[in-house]
Amino acid sequence: MDKQNDQSRMDKIVSLAKRRGFIFQSSEIYGGLNGFWDYGPLGVALKRNLKDCWWQDMVSGHDELATPAGAPEPYEMAGLDCTIIMHPQVWKVSGHFDLFHDWLVDCRESKKRYRYDHLHGRFASHRNKRVFVVTDQSGDEALPHTVARAQKFFGLRAKQIDEIEWEGGIEPLAAGIAAGTISTSEALAPDAAELGTLTDPREFNLMFETRIGALAGGDDDRAFLRPETAQGIFMNFKNVLDTSRVSVPFGIAQIGKSFRNEITPRNFTFRSREFEQMEIEFFCKPADSSAWYRYWRDRRWKWYLDLGLTAGKLQLREHHADELSHYSVGTADIEYAFPFLAEGEFGELEGIAHRGDFDLRSHSEGKLVRQDGQLVVEQGADGKPRHRGSGKDLSYFDDVTRERYVPHVIEPSAGADRAVLAFLCDAYHEDEVPDEDGKPRSRTVLKLHPRLAPLKVAILPLVKKDGMPELAAELYRKLKPHMAAMYDEKGSVGRRYARQDEAGTPWCITVDGQSLADRTVTLRDRDTLVQSRVALDAVGDLLRDRLRSGGS
Ligand code: ATP
Repeated sequence: MDKQNDQSRMDKIVSLAKRRGFIFQSSEIYGGLNGFWDYGPLGVALKRNLKDCWWQDMVSGHDELATPAGAPEPYEMAGLDCTIIMHPQVWKVSGHFDLFHDWLVDCRESKKRYRYDHLHGRFASHRNKRVFVVTDQSGDEALPHTVARAQKFFGLRAKQIDEIEWEGGIEPLAAGIAAGTISTSEALAPDAAELGTLTDPREFNLMFETRIGALAGGDDDRAFLRPETAQGIFMNFKNVLDTSRVSVPFGIAQIGKSFRNEITPRNFTFRSREFEQMEIEFFCKPADSSAWYRYWRDRRWKWYLDLGLTAGKLQLREHHADELSHYSVGTADIEYAFPFLAEGEFGELEGIAHRGDFDLRSHSEGKLVRQDGQLVVEQGADGKPRHRGSGKDLSYFDDVTRERYVPHVIEPSAGADRAVLAFLCDAYHEDEVPDEDGKPRSRTVLKLHPRLAPLKVAILPLVKKDGMPELAAELYRKLKPHMAAMYDEKGSVGRRYARQDEAGTPWCITVDGQSLADRTVTLRDRDTLVQSRVALDAVGDLLRDRLRSGGS
């Protein structure tokens, strides 16, 4: 599919998400708030199902006695739910306070703010005037945007566009400025009419700051909304170890909100300022950590495939050595070809990182930095640790081997909102189905995996009389305690099917005249459109089996 079609597909997905109550803009009646999204009735069910699948597959359903395929040995999993606001020292020691920032530039004229690394451009000349035309668009949008900007700046009509002389292709503004080939005075900002309106780049910490207590004011009252859930797990490593009798290797899992004051939230929910993460910190013996890293990378990759994401749109990308954080031995991203991205581009769904003993040692000894290949406590100007650790011993004593060591950590870190968005994009299809008179009619259908589908089944009396509603209601009440079921008697059956297809409901059950005679119903499958006659009293077990086996 070409990119223009992909963009219009994305527009349709966004509009369906709103029209059918999956996702709304936060505070919409006041004009919305950039980077914040609410989940409506169908969306909340989809997102909860996604998080439940993750929890079930990673934590509550995990078999601690078995060795899963690819794992070095059996392991235990524990859950956790900790606070969003934590001791400020957590973020100093984790590195978020010093390092968790982006560079931003402001436009003095338009008052718009941009992420420095998102700005690209190219030189354009017309009648001895040469400017660097800057765009904040990415992928295929960037080039046409520079043309439109240059046309406006030089005051040309459409047919005069060929008079503009271009030098080279699109290049990053930051690289050109660093190399001295571009000066800010000749840069035309993406939303400005004048040249040279961009400020110098400034550092901007992505953590939301708040104050604790009624008399807040001093530096000691400063606190931060967590930008990741992972640190809460490290805070409780010892608590879990001491209270739940787990032994290495084991993982602690947490699902919860995280906050990042992203400079340019964009692409629907992909880059939000408030979002949910699903994270595991997996603690293992240092010698086994590479094997565990490979296990978790492959296990998490398979999870997305098992829930139905199209393999051809997923990519597992191992980071190059120069991309790795200073503590990381290996990191892989699971990425999806979202329709809003340019051809060949992928967006991150989840990162799986081998973090070594960086986190536990930092929270014990003080913030670490790498020096000559070693992790050492970073010193301040006074020769003392720049950010003090807790001083608590976070090592582990192995009762069997009588060894003491600081466990290494593998961290699969996924975003619930990005996963919901990927599953929505992947599930969106337009096709043709025969209507009640057998004529082809176009339909929009969300082919969501039954485990994810907000509603599993809709029960539809063919007509609103002759005892059909009563029998349909009986079936609805039978199914409802076991699965998300809906009763709908409004409109023609064709329209009711269409409504369920758009909501991603895998099965519809129609109660008709024959049902009254022999207590059989018609079961319609969303994807195959096959309609089969089944006994009303057997349909509950049948659907439960299908849900368990993933739908088929
Ligand atoms: P990106 O490079 O896209 O900003 P990241 O590498 O900073 O992402 P991580 O810190 O690894 O992301 O966070 C783990 C996961 O949390 C990501 O894979 C993503 O699914 C999710 N996530 C991170 N930032 C956001 C955001 N602003 N909005 C929605 N989800 C996010």
